[in-house]
Amino acid sequence: MINVTPDEEKAIVDSKGKYRWSITPYYASLMDKDDPKCPIRQQAVPALQELMEYPGAEPDPVGDTVYRKTNRVVHKYPDRVIMLVTEVCAVYCRHCTRKFHTTNVSGTYFEENETLSWDLDFDYIASHPEIRDVLRTGGDPLTYGDERLEWIISRLRQIPHVEIIRIGSRYPVLLPQRITPEFCAMLDRYHPIWLNTHFNHPKEITPESAAACDRLLRHGVVVQNQTVLLKGINDSLETMQELLKGLLKIRVRPYYLYHCDNVTGVSHFATSIEKGREIMKGLIGHMTGFAVPQYIITTSLGKIPLWEEQVHQDEQGYWLDNYQGKTMRLQHTGTDE
Ligand SMILES: *Cc1c(COP(=O)(O)O)cnc(C)c1O
Ligand code: SF4
Repeated sequence: MINVTPDEEKAIVDSKGKYRWSITPYYASLMDKDDPKCPIRQQAVPALQELMEYPGAEPDPVGDTVYRKTNRVVHKYPDRVIMLVTEVCAVYCRHCTRKFHTTNVSGTYFEENETLSWDLDFDYIASHPEIRDVLRTGGDPLTYGDERLEWIISRLRQIPHVEIIRIGSRYPVLLPQRITPEFCAMLDRYHPIWLNTHFNHPKEITPESAAACDRLLRHGVVVQNQTVLLKGINDSLETMQELLKGLLKIRVRPYYLYHCDNVTGVSHFATSIEKGREIMKGLIGHMTGFAVPQYIITTSLGKIPLWEEQVHQDEQGYWLDNYQGKTMRLQHTGTDE
């Protein structure tokens, strides 16, 4: 489907035994045949940089493995957990933050494998009444069939304190045909369900991906988007604005813009924080508030916003900066009495 360059070919050969790769025909159909810099190609075709060493790179800088309580449950924040239901994905995104778990041939967070009893995971959630939000992620949960996914959701729904169920899936972008009416109808029976997907570039917004999101939305599933800031892919204000505008047109709400973590095999995609802040500066106020994601870095201490405050305080009170760079002093504020 593409004319593979000598570098891409070498990367595919050299990554054998180290990193998996897999690309759906649909996602490959979005690739530029001849341009190795194509944003779709760069996300999916192995690159030589993945095999190079970068200072400070770690397999798990965000500490998923530190906070793992059972085979699949990562409990980092008091009221919500993620459930790593699988390590399999439709496309192995080259920039995956869980590259060790998903893409590294000899790596996984699972102690044995994904067949290890699920009772331990459900029992953990059931015995922690503070957990009100379970996010099923992976790998990509939608690699499972509907029946298995429904079984997991129904087990979670038997736990009274689990109020919301979230799904993290890139299928709307990588294989939108997987979002069938039957799948959406199944989710519709277990609300409230939220789905976070992962569009990184406006080229990914196609009639097919739009239709997949529309099917979810029509079945009451709230669809939000998490983008990773990626060097050479979406690290320009123009591309980011186009992506965000495109998401609003398909009724997908931008949620997070992740700073790319220094993950082993991923470091070459990481931009500076200054770049991310510069992009945020070009978004806030220039676009409606609900087009603007939160710029976040994920750390072992949790997700932390990286956006600079637009409010400063001195002895005269508060100073406010607007999107055009104008500053004003806030004359009167309320009191707490
Ligand atoms: C990202 C994440 C969550 C969900 O965080 P939100 O900010 O609520 O979206 C929960 N648990 C872990 C371990 C996470 O990494
Ligand atoms: S689909 Fe998600 S979990 Fe899978 S490789 Fe891509 S970013 Fe990682």
